[in-house]
Amino acid sequence: MKRGFNFSPGPGTLPLEVLEQAAEEMLDWCGTGMGVMEMSHRGKAFMSILNQAQDDLRELLMVPDNYKILFMQGGAVAENAIIPMNLLGYCAETPPIADYIVTGFWSDKSQKEARRYCNVNIAASSEGRHFTHLPRQEEWKLSQDPAYIHICTNETIHGVEYFWEPDLPGVGLPEVPLVADVSSHILSRPMDVSKFGVMYGGAQKNIGPSGMTFVIVREDLLDRALPICPSVFTWKTVAENNSMYNTPPTYAIYIAGLVFEWLKRNGGLKAMEKQNVAKAQLLYGYLDSSNFYCTFVEKDCRSRMNVPFFLHDDALNDKFFAGAESYGLLQLNGHSSVGGVRASIYNAMPLAGVQALVDYLRDFERIHG
Ligand SMILES: *Cc1c(COP(=O)(O)O)cnc(C)c1O
Repeated sequence: MKRGFNFSPGPGTLPLEVLEQAAEEMLDWCGTGMGVMEMSHRGKAFMSILNQAQDDLRELLMVPDNYKILFMQGGAVAENAIIPMNLLGYCAETPPIADYIVTGFWSDKSQKEARRYCNVNIAASSEGRHFTHLPRQEEWKLSQDPAYIHICTNETIHGVEYFWEPDLPGVGLPEVPLVADVSSHILSRPMDVSKFGVMYGGAQKNIGPSGMTFVIVREDLLDRALPICPSVFTWKTVAENNSMYNTPPTYAIYIAGLVFEWLKRNGGLKAMEKQNVAKAQLLYGYLDSSNFYCTFVEKDCRSRMNVPFFLHDDALNDKFFAGAESYGLLQLNGHSSVGGVRASIYNAMPLAGVQALVDYLRDFERIHG
């Protein structure tokens, strides 16, 4: 067996230890005589897996007690509809209005879906500058009374990350929840959950396999759903049933739980942040020193998780990707809407993987530059 370094944006690479443990437990989980995929979700064994995963996520991210952790399905894209259906039942404006900050492909997709349910105010957008910076909060043109304000704190495709948390009480909107798509950088560093009303995302970037969506929601927001919201997507119903209103994605939850334990064993989110800073510095540092490759995102909001970059001569792209693959540097192609190269360097990517990539970049530049 030969595993490469996998730079996929998602589903992304997982820690080797986690995969090995899952392989070992595949046929018989902890002496139960059955694998996790074959267990009733309502049995004692799976309930212990679910509760432990929730507890570990709460501990890692220091989720306050007045927040519920939900494991759902449908991915972050389904949440784009589930969010308005859960929050528009409480809005002073008729028809209701929600504010969106558009900073890349994913927040744009979110606001487009929300338009099916409410008026959308684009309070700020960086599209005019090709999503290479983040509008400062002072530039946001918020509505008087929006049902919520939505941001994407790490734009997986454009490589833009918030390193600051918006301050809504500071702009006179203390009652308005801030909703954040944190799919692709959750658990990459500590975050102040209390600044958000809702944090959500798909697991398949920095947590586990696809199929599981996490929603971290403040309890007082559970009474705002529209009557049309399907029961299975109503956060309150999901919360009251401890994410078991219907069959949850059991195997994905189990793997996520193994990843949470791996994070705890490895020093938690402070240690992850340190390692992620080192990885990002190594890669951006090399790109900045080179005239052969270029990046466009402004330095103060460059994502530590997703690093898009370009060869000046994009006629060399095919050669670049083929060479990378032959060295075991996998899935480096940029998103079709952006082109170029994208290295996703999630928690499970070791520093050695980024070093191997930088070595390859240097060699390729020496030969073709
Ligand atoms: C991947 C991704 C999505 C889409 O997630 P799905 O699970 O495919 O629905 C949404 N937002 C962000 C920030 C992402 O990285």
